[in-house]
Amino acid sequence: MKTTQIFALCLLFLSLAACNKENEVSVNADLQPYFDSFAAEAKARNRSVEMGHVSGDIAVLNENNVAAKCQSLASGHKNVLVDEKFWKTADAMAREMVVFHELGHCALSRPHTDATKADGSCESMMQSGTGLCKMIYNSKTRSAYLDELFK
Ligand SMILES: [Zn+2]
Repeated sequence: MKTTQIFALCLLFLSLAACNKENEVSVNADLQPYFDSFAAEAKARNRSVEMGHVSGDIAVLNENNVAAKCQSLASGHKNVLVDEKFWKTADAMAREMVVFHELGHCALSRPHTDATKADGSCESMMQSGTGLCKMIYNSKTRSAYLDELFK
């Protein structure tokens, strides 16, 4: 094989490797326990959830008041992208609420709903955050919100 052919072959492998990396689904190690817990809570409610196409990452999001988002990638995969500043200061309950909300978009294809209960609280953790309902996610309200999320 001529040197030029070998060089061309190397370029081909390099571009394939780059493509594969882009299509690879990987979950940030800090997010993984929350992805696992999401799958476990779904399973506990007899809801089968396909998460093989959902990546997760933590990065600085320079968007006001955006703690995280669900991105649709060109590869067809989804990515839960969490703001690093939010992640560093949030407790486990707030982290779970945000990751589960984004997985509600990315893994369950759920849109926002700002449906409000009689007491003013949000009916769903899929609330937009800009609506009028109050979102209180704690050890008392968690189970009902997860029932609603996976209903
Ligand atoms: Zn949302």
